[in-house]
Amino acid sequence: MDLFDMDDVVVGPPDECSTPLKEWRLKLQAGTLTRNDFIEFFKRESPKYFDYQNELDTVKCMFKEALAKEEIIDVLVEFMLGDNPKSALEKLRLEGNTATVCGKVFKNGEPTYSCRECGMDPTCVLCVNCFKRSAHRFHKYKMSTSGGGGCCDCGDNEAWKKDHYCHLHLDNRKNPLESKIITEAVLERSEICFSAILSFCVNYLEIEPNASLQCLDGEDMGLGLDGANYCTVLYNDESHTFDQVIQTLTKIAKCRQKEAMEIVAAIDREGRAVVKCDTFKSCNDLKTAIENQMIPATGLLANPRNRESLRTSVLHINSVACQQFALQLLSWFQEFLVRHYLFRKIFSELVQRKQESFCIRHILEYDVKLWKTARTCWHRLLISGMLMEYDNKMVLAQEFSRRYATIVEDFIKDDHDHAFSIVSLSVQLFTVPSIAHRLIAMEGIFDKLLHTFYYVAIEKFILNRTLHFSKNIASLTFFKRANYILYDLRYLLSLKPDVLSSELRTGFLEGCKALMRVLNVMQGMESITRQTGQHMDYEPEWECAFNLHIKLATTISQVIEWASTDKMLLHKLYKMTVRSLVSNNFIVGAAGGDEVEARSVAGHVASCLVYDVLVRPVSIHLPLTRFYAGIYLHLEAHGLSYDSLVAETEVLNIKLTPREIIEPVLCTHAMIAQVAAGMWRRNGYSLLHQLYFYRNVRCRVEMLDRDIVCLQIGASLMESNEFLIHALNKFNLIGWAQPNYETLLAESSVDEEFMRQLSMIDEFLELLIVIIGERWMPGVSLVSEEDRLRKEIIQLLCIKSYSHSELSRALPDTTGGNSDSVFEDVINTVATFKKPVAADRKGVYELKESLYDEFNVYYYHYTKEDKSKAEELQRERRKSKKELVCCPPPMLPQLTPAFTSMANILQCNVFLTICTLTMDRALDIRSRCFSESHVQKILHLLGFAIQEELSEHYPFLSFYERAQQYGILDKLEELARCPRLEAHRDFVLWTIKRFKDMQAKQAPAAAAGPSGSQRQSMGGEELPLTSEEQARKEKETRAKLAAERRAKLMAQMKSAQNSFMKSNAEMFANSDLEQSSTGSGASSYRTAASMGGSAMEWEDISDDSLEEQGAAALAIKQNPACLGPNRAPYQAQENSFKCILCFENCSINPDGPPLVSSAFVQTSRVILTTPGHYDGKSGMHVSCCGHVMHYKCWQEYYSNEESKEQRRHHRNRLALTHVPNVEFHCPYCRALSNIVLPVSEPLGGLIPGHAAVSPVVGGGSSENYLPLDCFVEIMRTLAGELAAPAADSTMWQYPSVLRKSNVIGDVAQFERSVQLIEKPQLHPTCSDVMSSFNKALQNAMHSQQPNAAADGGVGVGVGVESDSPYLVFDACSYTLESLEIYMFTMRKPLKVEMPMRHQTCTTNLVRACSLYSCWAPHRPEQAAKLLDTIFNQKGTSVLEWDCFRMLVQLNFGVLNLMVRESEHAILPSGSMFDFYMLQTMFLANVTKAVICFDVEKELAKRRAKEEAGEQTEFSQLAYVEQLPSKIQENMVAFYRSYNVPARMRQLVQQKKLAESEEKQTQSPNQEQTVVIPCELQHLALMLEHVRYQMGSFLRCACLFYRCMTDVEFPDTFPLEQPDRFDLMCQYLGLDADMGVYFDMETVFATMMHNFASHPHVLRQAEQCSLGYGDPVEVLPCLRPLPALKKLFDDYSDLINSVSDIFCPNNEREEMKTPTMCLICGEVLCGQSYCCQPELGKMSVGACTHHAYSCGAEVGIFLRIRDCQVVYLGRGKGCYVQPPYLDEYGETDQGLRRGNPLRLSQYAYRRIFMQWLGHKLHEEIARLNDNANVAVTQWHHM
Ligand SMILES: [Zn+2]
Ligand SMILES: [Zn+2]
Ligand SMILES: [Zn+2]
Ligand SMILES: [Zn+2]
Ligand SMILES: [Zn+2]
Ligand SMILES: [Zn+2]
Ligand SMILES: [Zn+2]
Repeated sequence: MDLFDMDDVVVGPPDECSTPLKEWRLKLQAGTLTRNDFIEFFKRESPKYFDYQNELDTVKCMFKEALAKEEIIDVLVEFMLGDNPKSALEKLRLEGNTATVCGKVFKNGEPTYSCRECGMDPTCVLCVNCFKRSAHRFHKYKMSTSGGGGCCDCGDNEAWKKDHYCHLHLDNRKNPLESKIITEAVLERSEICFSAILSFCVNYLEIEPNASLQCLDGEDMGLGLDGANYCTVLYNDESHTFDQVIQTLTKIAKCRQKEAMEIVAAIDREGRAVVKCDTFKSCNDLKTAIENQMIPATGLLANPRNRESLRTSVLHINSVACQQFALQLLSWFQEFLVRHYLFRKIFSELVQRKQESFCIRHILEYDVKLWKTARTCWHRLLISGMLMEYDNKMVLAQEFSRRYATIVEDFIKDDHDHAFSIVSLSVQLFTVPSIAHRLIAMEGIFDKLLHTFYYVAIEKFILNRTLHFSKNIASLTFFKRANYILYDLRYLLSLKPDVLSSELRTGFLEGCKALMRVLNVMQGMESITRQTGQHMDYEPEWECAFNLHIKLATTISQVIEWASTDKMLLHKLYKMTVRSLVSNNFIVGAAGGDEVEARSVAGHVASCLVYDVLVRPVSIHLPLTRFYAGIYLHLEAHGLSYDSLVAETEVLNIKLTPREIIEPVLCTHAMIAQVAAGMWRRNGYSLLHQLYFYRNVRCRVEMLDRDIVCLQIGASLMESNEFLIHALNKFNLIGWAQPNYETLLAESSVDEEFMRQLSMIDEFLELLIVIIGERWMPGVSLVSEEDRLRKEIIQLLCIKSYSHSELSRALPDTTGGNSDSVFEDVINTVATFKKPVAADRKGVYELKESLYDEFNVYYYHYTKEDKSKAEELQRERRKSKKELVCCPPPMLPQLTPAFTSMANILQCNVFLTICTLTMDRALDIRSRCFSESHVQKILHLLGFAIQEELSEHYPFLSFYERAQQYGILDKLEELARCPRLEAHRDFVLWTIKRFKDMQAKQAPAAAAGPSGSQRQSMGGEELPLTSEEQARKEKETRAKLAAERRAKLMAQMKSAQNSFMKSNAEMFANSDLEQSSTGSGASSYRTAASMGGSAMEWEDISDDSLEEQGAAALAIKQNPACLGPNRAPYQAQENSFKCILCFENCSINPDGPPLVSSAFVQTSRVILTTPGHYDGKSGMHVSCCGHVMHYKCWQEYYSNEESKEQRRHHRNRLALTHVPNVEFHCPYCRALSNIVLPVSEPLGGLIPGHAAVSPVVGGGSSENYLPLDCFVEIMRTLAGELAAPAADSTMWQYPSVLRKSNVIGDVAQFERSVQLIEKPQLHPTCSDVMSSFNKALQNAMHSQQPNAAADGGVGVGVGVESDSPYLVFDACSYTLESLEIYMFTMRKPLKVEMPMRHQTCTTNLVRACSLYSCWAPHRPEQAAKLLDTIFNQKGTSVLEWDCFRMLVQLNFGVLNLMVRESEHAILPSGSMFDFYMLQTMFLANVTKAVICFDVEKELAKRRAKEEAGEQTEFSQLAYVEQLPSKIQENMVAFYRSYNVPARMRQLVQQKKLAESEEKQTQSPNQEQTVVIPCELQHLALMLEHVRYQMGSFLRCACLFYRCMTDVEFPDTFPLEQPDRFDLMCQYLGLDADMGVYFDMETVFATMMHNFASHPHVLRQAEQCSLGYGDPVEVLPCLRPLPALKKLFDDYSDLINSVSDIFCPNNEREEMKTPTMCLICGEVLCGQSYCCQPELGKMSVGACTHHAYSCGAEVGIFLRIRDCQVVYLGRGKGCYVQPPYLDEYGETDQGLRRGNPLRLSQYAYRRIFMQWLGHKLHEEIARLNDNANVAVTQWHHM
């Protein structure tokens, strides 16, 4: 062979030989391995895992991650860690030194926990695992759900005050940092791999990556532009709605609706999706088409900087593949880094290399170029890689700070949510105090943040050195985004350092300078000028400014807080503030702002600044002035003062006078007063909104509160008289303060102007009260922050009692939520918590009695409404305590030295002049310029003065002497007599009393001496009576008169009432009953009954123990039965009603106009929800309120409602697949209804006397009626006849049936036995009523049908066709069965009076069915099937029967088939045959109970009871023993041959025996039968069991036959204990003596044998013994009680249980809204685009879909993450109170408060009872009725 040939053969080694792993290892050894080897590998390999299918214009893409992991990533790991990487990783884990911090990154919706006691700030959170293992579990914790992206702070020293570690991470701390597994070599290899991963991902993940451009050039992999190798990718944005994008996809990309929705869901989830795979041209065409389509972006979300078209790109398929792989790689990498500190070390070193493409700087800056998932992957990587070690964190923080301006600007231009931007990383970095401080000191971050904010957010709005926001809504979006900078600022400053380094101080001051710049342009922003003449053209923009304020307020407070700790800082900041203030040109600095004029009052002159608020601009926003006030409060603590600082600033030629300090605030307050006086009416609502927020709890801390401090500063710095003159001048009240005001007034006569003056005076006095009284402010007086909070809470609790949540909402959130514990401490010192009285109320705080003295009626945070409420309440309280009825001022805390001089106001001349002038005017009857409230306020001020004097805090205060000079006391005493001021007399008296206290202290001589005012104390009796004394006197005289009048009135009323009651008897009876059922009666039951278990206890009060009571047994014999030979005769009842629509009297009679009652029919599964039974079945439930109306009247009413409804449907454009019954409300009680039930007279009334069953006299019964065995025979024959194909209907006629069945007896006997009557003649419209009822039921059934049809079965089991009369009968039986279960659960026995609606509902329903059975269309096939099943052992066996349901069918559906003529009918009303039917089904049920009885189980139960120390006895043993032996033997025989468990055991034993014999093999002995033991004891147990199991059937039968026969339950029926077997049997005419049924002589035994020998029964035992499970679906005798899903007691357990639950449609996606069906417990993916199954032809939410089958169109759902309970029904829904409550008895819907929640059994039971009582639809309708809020798209739930 030659060389060339060789070359031909060896074409390089085949691929299989050289695995990449080998290749890398070789290259590594050779030292030639570079990261490009890996990158090329990734690039080459990843397209292999990308797969797409084009089907029907819709592309489906997927990336095979599992395979890629195996074939790419695992190889990589093996290369790094060496052979067997799995065990290496496992060893690494066992070393237990992964990290000392948790750092777990939260997924969206994952629960997080913070500790109120130990967390440094509210952003410090724990993950579930750490929380459960930490000490905080036992502290006061708070839970919430993460929005995704944050991480667990466990192990971070700076996040917690104590208990920094959970057990797990504490253990990790003990282990050494290094690892034996990670050797130098591993590290070396890892470094290459890591760098490859990073550079690959950085390179590929951009939306328009460079790699893609290469593809376009066609150089990549030799693929041309013409191949179908390109994708059009559509990206997420926040400016288009789901629907808009769906529309685009269906219209332009021609996707089908369903696929379009899937794509949109994917775009929302991941941030992008491939919409087309094709040639470059067609992909690009699609891109152009989408981009050219102009969809108007929706209003508020729109960002003008953003293009309005959807964002798309065309990528080569290989690029998409690489991107998908890069995402996978990043997620894996993040998890890998968590494994060890050393990996993170490499990572952090790598990303710090500045020249690399993956350096931190680049990662931070290119974030904005990525889509959602890609961003999230990088964020998580940074969190895991950089945040777990402090040093790395610092590095990241520094890089982050340096790039801050750039990335924030990118963020603002971008439109993704904050959580999807790298900016959101700030919360991880800036909240670490040491890092924050370092950033401020070294990186100037404080300044940088504010500078950035100024530059990007507000600079463009500055006009004339002041902010003025344009009224452009679009700017709001970008403004909102810019506000995130202020949140960052808040994080940064949240913890003030203990000591400031000089760098930190410098850095901080730099920031303050920037802050000053911002405040400077905010001072006076959005200023307003009073509008005169005409109204404002448009409402000016004001929200922007307030938003800015709200965002910045916390920062301002924080800066002041920082400054307060450091003298040097404070000093510099003060000077900075003064400089800013002086340079500002709003009001004081404005042109002509220094103009002054002299004003004088009471001989004092002040030169006031001229600035007329009525004509010049004023503003609510004065942040600079307020900042000054904030700083000022801290001066004194550092030994600084205004005076000392003035000297300093004057050197710098900056001077700020007190006059200038207060001027802007004074102007604003003058404006506020003028607004209140109605002088700014033309300025529109925006001003009122602003004033509202000015005082609102969210703003006032840095607004109103600071303004008052500012005025107080002025008051303390200025001479008191001068200060008051300034204020008076600003309020234009100088004239009023002159004594000649009255005469001046007389000249002017403008009334309106005058009223305004009065109002201005009020406002002025109130402001004065506030300035003097509101000093619970640290720095102003000697109080702490806690005192301030305390005062606030006291004032709030004087308005009313607050619940915990109301209170915390009403208080300002000053420290970012950290005030929780302070709040908790304070509240307990001032208030007592009253536990909720009823379980559905909240607990409330009530103020401690002694603290009412601290009430101040003019409290400055009160609204007008609060004030009058509180005043009213306090007056009432004082009245009841027989105190003076007034609201005197409270004692004030002592002023700090800096503010002491403020007290002087209360004794200065101007003040006293004002006081005396007001009092004089009050006393002068001719005076006009006076109002009562002026006097009240003056009294309040005088009260302050007196209290201040009494406190002796201020040596300079000599108010007493000064007051004497002005004759205050004399005037007060005059006022006390003044009739004009009667309302305030008590207040005057209080003031006099306090004045005298002061007098006694100040001038004991004067008080004791005979001179001066002493006159009054001598003539004490002359003093007017206090209001209380006066009231008492008046009361006494009045009481007498009143008593007489009352007696007379009562007599009148009574007689009127009586006549009224008579005429409205029905309505009253009704409402009373309703009340007693929903009110006290029901609640006592409810409280007695707790869930589940106790219902069983009730049941356990065995009736047998009662049976011993001989007396009761005797009574039984005398009580009538409703059926059978002992039947009580029918007694006619009176039947008169009033139609609720036309109010005419009406009574029921067959030929009168038909009456109806509105009713509601719903499909229901309530009693069919027990798992394992009734799968897929549903029934129909009817409820009815019982209000009677004429059918005619109702029709009119209904057609009205119907057209309303149609209009509504039209409006909502509801696309319903099926038109349901139109819903309407009962015109009387508003009960939800959708049908009407006919109201008919008692059935007995329709039976002529001769045909009715009469009590049997003597023994002649057998001759009157056919006996039971004949009945059975007839039924059997009839079954055959009906089933015969094409049978001539005359064949079924009873004479022929009688003949065929060879029954001995005549036709007359039969007619008597069935009560054949002449068909009652009914009113013609009667049949309308009935058929409309049937139609409505069909309609209701239909809505369930699509589903039912799919399941192969319809309705409740045995094939009932939808148009069959059996539908009506089944609705009847289902309703009765539901009622029975409802009453049983409520622990109500039969005899207890039922609520009217239950009573009338069942009666009307049964009577309607009975009447209906005479006219109903005949369904011979169905009757045949029924009869065959029961009497001929064809079809199902007793095991599968619902005996009561079959009884009802039998009663209504059979007999009339035998009467084929128009004149006669058989009306089921308690005939002998009806009785036989009952007997038949009774026996069937007894048979079932006997054959299902499990003796072993019962004995085990007994043993368990005995072990628990309970007494057990065989209550039926005595009875069994006395039975004749023949019967005993029969019982034993029956038991042995049919009892399923017994036979099963027998078969098993026999088999064993046979096997063991086979083994011995000696003799194939003849089959030895195992004999099942059956002793008398066993029989006793069996009977006990049977009697117990019959309970449900008997109760249903009792309800049923009472409605049919109208024979009342006898008085022997218990009222409180469970219903008793023997009593019920007796009422029904049945023999309670069980022995009878086992007597072979009777037909009973034969029937039981027949039932029991059904092949199904026999097969059951055989198959069970072989372990095949149940071959037939056994329906237990006693229906299992329905129950809702059992819930966790602790809410956090519940939320954790779904923390990583996945959407069933997408196993990579966690459920966003896990929603639990409370009926079956299934957790669904609620209200989400990923789960939209189809129902009919409509896509609906998963819950709606589930409710359809699980609850038959109605459902109860718990939205787990936001703790809300939703009722859903037929496209409607409502939220109801969730069953989880916090310790204050409050719910937390939406988890806003985060308090630990526990399950409230009471609340949960309420939901349960609503469900059990079929009231969900009603509740939904009720709650939707009064809520006119936006329509929720319930069907998307
Ligand atoms: Zn954790
Ligand atoms: Zn931990
Ligand atoms: Zn704690
Ligand atoms: Zn009427
Ligand atoms: Zn009603
Ligand atoms: Zn369910
Ligand atoms: Zn889903």
